[in-house]
Amino acid sequence: MADDCLFCRIVRKEIPATLVAETDRCIAFRDINPQAPVHMVIVPREHVASLNEARDADLIGSLSLLAADIARTEGIAEAGYRTVINTNRDAGQTVFHVHLHLLGGRAMAWPPG
Ligand code: AMP
Ligand code: ZN
Repeated sequence: MADDCLFCRIVRKEIPATLVAETDRCIAFRDINPQAPVHMVIVPREHVASLNEARDADLIGSLSLLAADIARTEGIAEAGYRTVINTNRDAGQTVFHVHLHLLGGRAMAWPPG
């Protein structure tokens, strides 16, 4: 846990968020600035600053599997969706608590910007 980390504060429920799923290791909530009709942020309860610092394969894998569960619940699994982990400056990471974006509900362009 990091005292001043935004996503740790959401995990501790010190800051409100629209939670969509909670497991023993992760939570998922709606992105405050959605980039698609479905845009969730999935974070480990444990503070890990970015994918560069991640060491626990199960923990990182659990983010993807929870995204797939939420995609099914949201009804976008068959049409498709995108999962993204932004890491550091070139990817535009703004919150330094590793998180996976789940985006769906519209067609996505490739390559991403
Ligand atoms: P990234 O740019 O990959 O670090 O993603 C951080 C994401 O967190 C952005 O999509 C923000 O819109 C989102 N975000 C920031 N603050 C909050 C918040 N309080 N509740 C929900 N999502 C947030
Ligand atoms: Zn944190």
